[in-house]
Amino acid sequence: MGMTLPKFLRHLLLLDERRCPLCLEPFVPSGKAGQPFCPECLKGLTEAQGPCCEGCGRLLQSPSAYCGTCLQSPPPWLALRRIGPYRRLLRGAVLRGKFHGDIALLTALGMLLGSLIQARPFPKAPEAIVPIPLHPARLRERGFNQSLEISRGIAKTLGLPPAPALLERIRNTPSQRTLKRAGRMANLKDAFLSRPEARGKHILLIDDVMTTGSTLRIAADTLLNAGAASVSVAVLARD
Ligand SMILES: [Zn+2]
Ligand SMILES: [Zn+2]
Repeated sequence: MGMTLPKFLRHLLLLDERRCPLCLEPFVPSGKAGQPFCPECLKGLTEAQGPCCEGCGRLLQSPSAYCGTCLQSPPPWLALRRIGPYRRLLRGAVLRGKFHGDIALLTALGMLLGSLIQARPFPKAPEAIVPIPLHPARLRERGFNQSLEISRGIAKTLGLPPAPALLERIRNTPSQRTLKRAGRMANLKDAFLSRPEARGKHILLIDDVMTTGSTLRIAADTLLNAGAASVSVAVLARD
C-alpha cells in the first residue's frame, strides 16, 4: 500500500507523524529513533539532569545513591526513575495531559520516560508494567487513567505490555491533596488489591507525579505483600 502512494503524499504523512505532541510543530527527527518530541521541547523537558536520589528522584547536590530522607525511611521499591522535577515545561506538559485529556501527550511522555529507563536500567529488569489504578467511579468521571496512558508509552519503548489487571483500586479514597502525610497513609490503607498473577514477578509501577510518595508506597507494599518479587517505580515528575 505504501509503495503505491505518490512520493509527496508519503512525505506529508511522514511529517504529520512527526508533529511534536507538546508544541504541535512538525519536526524532522534527528538522532535516536522513536523520540516523540521536537529537539526544543526535549531539551526543555529534560533540562534538570544531574545526580538524583535512587529512592525518590530528588536532585542531589553531590552524587550518592540516596537522599537523607530515603536513608532514614527507605522506600519499598528498588529504584525510581523520573523525567525531572515537577516544574516549568514538564509540569505544564503533565497538567495538560492529565487535566485536558491530552492522551497523545501522556503517551509521548511515557515514551520519553521509557527511553530514560533504557539509558539507566533498573537493578531488576521489569516483567510487568503496572499503572496506579483509578477507582472505577473516578475513572468514569475522568474518562481515562493517566497512569495507564503513560504506561502505554513506556510499554512502546520497553517492548513490554502494560498489565493493569495486576492491581485494583477497591476503595474510592478522598482526594489526597488536602491531607498531611499520616492522613494520606490512613486514607489509602486497603485502597488497593493485588491479583495473584503478581506473585514472583518483578513489577514496574507507574504514576504521573510523585509528591509525598504515599500512594506509591501503599501500592508497592500491596504488590510485595501479595508476593511480587520486587517493585521498581517510574513517574513523569518528582514534586
Ligand atoms: Zn515541540
Ligand atoms: Zn530520596
